[in-house]
Amino acid sequence: MAVIVQKFGGTSVADLDRIRAVANRVAATLREGHQVAVVVSAMAGVTNQLVTWVRDAHADCDTREYDAVVSTGEQVTTGLLALALNNLGIPARSWLGWQLPIDTDGAHGRARITAIETAELRRGLESGAVQVVAGFQGRSADNRVTTLGRGGSDITAVALAAALRAERCDIYTDVDGVYTSDPRIVAKARKLDKITYEEMLEMASLGAKVLHTRSVELAMKHNVRLQVLSSFNDEPGTLVVDEDEIVEQELVSGITYSRDEAKITLVRVPDRPGIAASIFGPLSDAEVNVDMIVQNVSEDGKATDLTFTVAKGDLKAAVAVVEVHKGELGYAALVPDPNVVKVSVIGVGMRSHAGVAKTMFETMAAKGINIQVISTSEIKISVLIAEEYTELALRALHSAYGLDSA
Ligand code: ADP
Ligand code: ASP
Ligand code: MG
Repeated sequence: MAVIVQKFGGTSVADLDRIRAVANRVAATLREGHQVAVVVSAMAGVTNQLVTWVRDAHADCDTREYDAVVSTGEQVTTGLLALALNNLGIPARSWLGWQLPIDTDGAHGRARITAIETAELRRGLESGAVQVVAGFQGRSADNRVTTLGRGGSDITAVALAAALRAERCDIYTDVDGVYTSDPRIVAKARKLDKITYEEMLEMASLGAKVLHTRSVELAMKHNVRLQVLSSFNDEPGTLVVDEDEIVEQELVSGITYSRDEAKITLVRVPDRPGIAASIFGPLSDAEVNVDMIVQNVSEDGKATDLTFTVAKGDLKAAVAVVEVHKGELGYAALVPDPNVVKVSVIGVGMRSHAGVAKTMFETMAAKGINIQVISTSEIKISVLIAEEYTELALRALHSAYGLDSA
């Protein structure tokens, strides 16, 4: 009998009525003759509340205690869903990360799953009982509770599907699939029937939060058949597939945005060999990830402006690191700017077609939007623009690439 893993996000388990609706969905899948393992998130808003309490309790907290608190939202929903299933006469039990266990490394707040013990789960599944597993959490080698990073229940679901060799991993959320752009911002966004792993990976890492980036990575690595669909209706969802399963490939499949960006410009940096290493070396030592970089050509051969981006949460740390090294770097001024957004167009069709970048730049120009930094890879182009233009840029690009729904 095939195992199906079903994951329900925060809005899908936001209250008891919705949890009852989830139980009905699980019951229907059982009736189709499947064994069902369910992964749940905390009720919508609960994890945010827990994070706020931790931050209010201690400005620079022990991350092990952060995880002890922030992981608790999922404990409530696993138990409530098991009870809702029992109410339908279906045997079910809840599992916390440490009980299985789901082993992780010790990187609290962003732990990685290293192994999942499935023997007892399998026994439970084979007895016909639904196994309800808490998303987002695990156990470190020194027996502490860990969390996988915000939105991490998707990772639990895919990792569990891989460990159980499940037939499919269905991610139920508040939209009925992966759209060409965030449907909350681009009203004309279209639902995709299928998207390649590679494109989904880029879309997730460039801001489309419908799936966690690492869940897509894992699905790709372990060949997990991944589907995104709505827990509120029965519309067909989006399947994440290999490239050869897509017959007609669009030039551009998706347009994303990420507000989690901040820009730092160093004015008049000496234009000499080694300067980039002396800026980005210390940032990397401080575990600050630098994303986009642009260095202007120096007119006099002596000094140049250098701009780079970091995650918004790293801005303070990045500024501090660069300021500590001001003496040796010898720049004239440091200008931080958190009011930026990264807009990206993604599509495997770009590999074989020219002109995608041209359309992007012309569209921005036509709307009078200044492009501050550009970066490209084989299947994506990203531009950094002022945050106030996010909606305008997304909608204009969506039309320009012919993605608008009728
Ligand atoms: P869950 O709580 O179920 O995990 P999330 O809020 O993490 O749900 O993800 C779903 C949200 O992702 C949607 O409500 C939607 O606004 C957003 N989203 C962003 N980009 C896309 C996209 N390209 N396609 C679908 N949803 C997207
Ligand atoms: N509850 C966690 C969060 O809000 C995990 C998840 O929802 O995927 O980040
Ligand atoms: Mg999510």
